[in-house]
Amino acid sequence: MLIHGKCHCGNIAFSLAWEPDPTEIPARACTCSFCVKHGGVWTSNPGGALRVAVKDPTLVSRYEFGTRTAEFHVCARCGIVPVVTSRIDGRLYAVVSVNAFDGIDPSLLRRAPTNFDGEGNDSRLERRKRNWIANVEYVESGA
Ligand SMILES: [Zn+2]
Repeated sequence: MLIHGKCHCGNIAFSLAWEPDPTEIPARACTCSFCVKHGGVWTSNPGGALRVAVKDPTLVSRYEFGTRTAEFHVCARCGIVPVVTSRIDGRLYAVVSVNAFDGIDPSLLRRAPTNFDGEGNDSRLERRKRNWIANVEYVESGA
């Protein structure tokens, strides 16, 4: 399955190859202070392949907070946050927002809250290496 998504104005778009076709897609409602405020719900497939295409990089705010190990890519024009990346040991990992999906049957989403409060920095990065998308191509000024 090739999952397409984008911010509202289309400046930040992604495609996520998910093989074999998922019978369900985990959708994690993050309870961190930033995601609570914007309703962040994320998914990832460690075996998936993600391509992020940004049309105008000057209209992407890369927001960090807390441990500053993850970058939230906020569209500065429309305010949507389609993707989060984390660079670990030189490799770029990512999760994508299920709220930014286009044309995906919502019944595929298996929604569950998550809470990573109190998680140490090392275990946080190890968890991302296990669970986040490890094949990430980030292309700027591409259509
Ligand atoms: Zn936008």
